[in-house]
Amino acid sequence: MPFFGRDRTLFKLFGLPIKANISWLFLVALIMFSLAEGWFPDQFRHAGVRADQSVYWALALVGTVALFVSLIIHEMCHSLVARSTGMPVAGITLFIFGGVSQLEDEPPTAGTEFFMAIVGPLASALIGAAMFGLYLFGQRAHWGIGAQALVLYLAVINGIMAAFNSLPAFPLDGGRVLRSIVWGITGDLQIATQVAVTIGSGLGFLLIFVGLGMMFMVTGGFIPGLWLLVIGFFVRQAALSNLQMVQMREYLEGETVRRFMTTDVVTVHRDLNLQRFVDELVFHHRFSYYPVVDEDGRLIGVVSARGPRGVDQHEWGVTSVGDVMKTVDESMTIGPDDDAVEALGSLRRREESRLVVVEDGRPIGIVSLRDLLGFLALKIDLEPRRISYRA
Ligand SMILES: [Zn+2]
Repeated sequence: MPFFGRDRTLFKLFGLPIKANISWLFLVALIMFSLAEGWFPDQFRHAGVRADQSVYWALALVGTVALFVSLIIHEMCHSLVARSTGMPVAGITLFIFGGVSQLEDEPPTAGTEFFMAIVGPLASALIGAAMFGLYLFGQRAHWGIGAQALVLYLAVINGIMAAFNSLPAFPLDGGRVLRSIVWGITGDLQIATQVAVTIGSGLGFLLIFVGLGMMFMVTGGFIPGLWLLVIGFFVRQAALSNLQMVQMREYLEGETVRRFMTTDVVTVHRDLNLQRFVDELVFHHRFSYYPVVDEDGRLIGVVSARGPRGVDQHEWGVTSVGDVMKTVDESMTIGPDDDAVEALGSLRRREESRLVVVEDGRPIGIVSLRDLLGFLALKIDLEPRRISYRA
């Protein structure tokens, strides 16, 4: 989730990291608050019972944890099916709109995508049904109001999760199911993606309009309306960026990194001091990014033109580039004869804008997302053999 900052790993499950980014805390707070101040007091009032505020907050805490357990089960189903078919899965990320499984590739077949997508809403529907069963049982067994309200909440929220995710708005699960069906019929992933994205984007618009309507025309509808509006924007944005990725893969297939890399690269020795780096390289070449090498010319890091900014200017003469560089690991580099699709996947996965192209340990070029996108734009203009979706 590049818009929301870096993800942190909370724990691992079946070898998959469960990550969260800072925006998730907002969701946690919102759910806790709406349960403690809304749902539980309301349920107690309906039953003609009053309870202490601390009881509502304790129930809200349990409800919030149970909600995220349900959500992780939903995502885990996607991830485990994906992994069982050989697709690499980077993990599950929790963020402001819930959870997302980070698949590192498109599914290999329409059947895989269908199965992978449908297990999520299915899991939520099953949990919801089980919780509703428990609620009915609890009523007959005269459970306490708190326990009844808790299982009823879990039944409702899992039902909503199943229903919302089944909307045929790509990249929601329902949209993926739709795409897999069109893909299965036409045998063409790109056309299937275009159909699913067009519908997804339209549904995104609909959510935005419904959200706006609720915000200004329904009493008490401002917050839920705003929520729908934001989700609508998010669905549209996600649909379009996904389409772009599928198009890029299609056009880049079989091309090597060498074709796209810039060989116009200035490397910096790690012992160079920042003063000379700025005077002799940054102001002279005006690149934004410089590979850093050791005595043997081997790549050990990268430094951006703004790298020295973090160091007081008086210290520039005695601070070396090696002190401010970002060390590179294997995943930040790529070979010149590697597939461009692989470079794209790597850029996307790491949320980086550039990779250093390395041959025999030495930097020979840079490949950037911008270059790949530029190539895509040209290719679509010059070879309009496919319908391209314009938003
Ligand atoms: Zn899902």
